[in-house]
Amino acid sequence: MPQERETATGRCFVCKREFTFDPKEVVTFLIDPQTGFPPGFTALGTMRPATPEAVARSRDEPLCPDCHERAERYGARLDPPPPPQWPTWPPSGN
Ligand SMILES: [Zn+2]
Repeated sequence: MPQERETATGRCFVCKREFTFDPKEVVTFLIDPQTGFPPGFTALGTMRPATPEAVARSRDEPLCPDCHERAERYGARLDPPPPPQWPTWPPSGN
């Protein structure tokens, strides 16, 4: 029995290119249709608290592999690694 991969066609929300993807594996982003950015993300590239309205009207938009790769490289530069955390804090009252 041939293994048919389920595919869907969508438009990448970054480059607007149509591409075919596996809905189970595609990377999606929650995008606010009013801004074209994830809720809480402004056109200036700054973050502000996402309003419930923005989240409610936002939809998952697919991201094509090319843009995903770029976003990952970009994200690695923009997002510093989280600060180190102590696995166990020394007990107080020593
Ligand atoms: Zn793209």
